[in-house]
Amino acid sequence: MPAVERADDPDELDSVEAAYLGRNGELRQLLAGIGKLSGEDRPKVGAAANPIREELEAAISKRRAKLESIALDVRLAREKTDVTLPGRTLPRGSLHPLIETGREIARIWGQFGFVVYESPEVETDELNFELLNIPPDHPARDLWDTMYVAGTDRHYLLRTHTSPGQMRVMRSTKPPIRALLPGRCFRYEAVDASHGFEFFQVEGLMVDEGTTLATLRGLLDEFARAMFGPTTATRFRPGYYPFTEPSVAFDIGCLICGGSGCAACKRTGWLTILGAGMVHPQVLRNGGIDPEMHQGFAFGMGTDRIAMLRHGISDLRVFFQDDLRFLESF
Ligand SMILES: [Zn+2]
Repeated sequence: MPAVERADDPDELDSVEAAYLGRNGELRQLLAGIGKLSGEDRPKVGAAANPIREELEAAISKRRAKLESIALDVRLAREKTDVTLPGRTLPRGSLHPLIETGREIARIWGQFGFVVYESPEVETDELNFELLNIPPDHPARDLWDTMYVAGTDRHYLLRTHTSPGQMRVMRSTKPPIRALLPGRCFRYEAVDASHGFEFFQVEGLMVDEGTTLATLRGLLDEFARAMFGPTTATRFRPGYYPFTEPSVAFDIGCLICGGSGCAACKRTGWLTILGAGMVHPQVLRNGGIDPEMHQGFAFGMGTDRIAMLRHGISDLRVFFQDDLRFLESF
């Protein structure tokens, strides 16, 4: 059957089949003509035609199987998978350096027994200022100007620090308290390399019997060494905050010059990483705690500042620009 053998794709084979065996095919026509033949010729023609039909059908089905097998071979060759090739790596995201630094701070203070609390970003004037010894006419308000919720007569504002969380913790739990309050803060501030209108802060609060400045100093030293290395130098300087008394600034030896003085530390050899102090007795009372029985310390550090020091970043703004080239370098 040369026509069958020549067919080299299934469509061509279909048309060959139709030409011979189809409704109007040659064999059909031949068989249809049998009726017109004389009685003695009929069986002869029929007997001759049937084997031809069977042979044709067999040849077509054999050819079809062959074509299908060729098509499968071609497909298998084309779609071959080399299982020995190395897999394609999926691009994996990573934590933003501010989130990562915040978690590291929480991890270290967690080892000292401090538990993370969350408090709102929108606060009342009372919690953000007044209960922290900053009445409406206090000069500190000039430094901590912020954004206010419209239509509330400056009653609701975006918190300027995480310190209102101190009040929330003291009012919702009893001493001993070891609380860590991380979160976003806001100020009405012109944006430059070291200032932003939003920034991240972590507040720490410990209230217990016999908590002293020495407790604070010891824990801050441990924190600084865990965060910046075991040989990190530290010092207290006098500071001022309305809600702590006494107040201190906590410095670490400059990580860049090692203490000899450079541009980053303004030639002092020291970098300030946080402000702290003993919680003011009136603030304890505002939180429902008797300062005769319990004392406490609080500190507040800028997560942004810690992240900048850890990673040697000189411009705060890169944290908020969502530039993948910067983020992918971590
Ligand atoms: Zn320095």
